[in-house]
Amino acid sequence: GAKALKRNTWMFFTPELAEASRERFTMDTGLRRALDRQELVLHYQPQARVEGSRVFGAEALVRWTTPEGEVIGPGRFIALAEEAGLIHLIGRWVLGEACRQAREWELAGLPLRVAVNLSGLQVVQGDIVGDVRDALEQSGLSPSRLELEITEGFVIGHADEGLDRLNGLRRLGVELAVDDFGTGYSSLSYLTRLPVQCLKIDRSFITDVPGDADDETIVAAILSIAERLGLDVIAEGVENATQLEFLRSLGCPAYQGDYLSPPLTATEFAQRWGAGGLAREA
Ligand code: C2E
Ligand code: MG
Ligand code: MG
Ligand code: MG
Repeated sequence: GAKALKRNTWMFFTPELAEASRERFTMDTGLRRALDRQELVLHYQPQARVEGSRVFGAEALVRWTTPEGEVIGPGRFIALAEEAGLIHLIGRWVLGEACRQAREWELAGLPLRVAVNLSGLQVVQGDIVGDVRDALEQSGLSPSRLELEITEGFVIGHADEGLDRLNGLRRLGVELAVDDFGTGYSSLSYLTRLPVQCLKIDRSFITDVPGDADDETIVAAILSIAERLGLDVIAEGVENATQLEFLRSLGCPAYQGDYLSPPLTATEFAQRWGAGGLAREA
């Protein structure tokens, strides 16, 4: 009623909300400029096989370095970019830059597969297949050196409309992975219908293993499903040797996380793993 309306109207002018909307405005215009002024940068987190610790890939993770020198993580601007209609521009930039970098590394004797995170909006709106084809053609990168990560939440919400797109991407020859696997409370039947090759076990299931019996069971179950379906698995967020040992004992094929390395700049990455050093121990 009128009272609620009045209260809401008054609520709108609280300093907190005014501050929040000011930050939104600043972020929105700032993000638009960030693209023009090349303030976005990709960091790369290595991915390694559990057996032998060989680094085979790198996940590209976007950051925004503001003119003031502040580094803003994707958690603070990707959702905003989606709302502001900027995700397609940002997503295309990320694809182009990740492919360019992977091709540069390939030519420098660092043959890595680069993994790029896709926003669900990029897949259902716009022309994702064309965007990926363009990025591959312009960079000269072989499609098998590109993996695209889609989140389980997206897969569940858009299984039908997204399926054609994912099949189109697969026909280009790129690999597809399900990110944050296990967090989506979904029927698992989609795994047999979608053309995905890899499951990334969400960090939340890795944090408390070994020790948390429920999480141990979930990790073991994911590995078992993946093996039966012929899917690769990357465990995310491995922070210590005990977690890695646990994953090894269950036969988990691959991992990434701060224990191996946090995300690095391209320069740092090449310094650490460049020139035939991919098999170097963590
Ligand atoms: P994600 O794809 O699940 O990426 C993994 C996140 O976990 C990254 O955070 C990474 O820095 C962090 N991480 C890796 N290892 C560890 C660890 O051992 N411990 C802990 N505590 N954290 C670890 P980041 O870079 O902040 O990215 C957050 C999310 O933002 C990503 O989650 C991804 O969903 C999204 N994102 C990142 N880059 C892009 C992009 O280019 N496009 C889109 N659409 N989303 C992106
Ligand atoms: Mg990811
Ligand atoms: Mg993830
Ligand atoms: Mg995540």
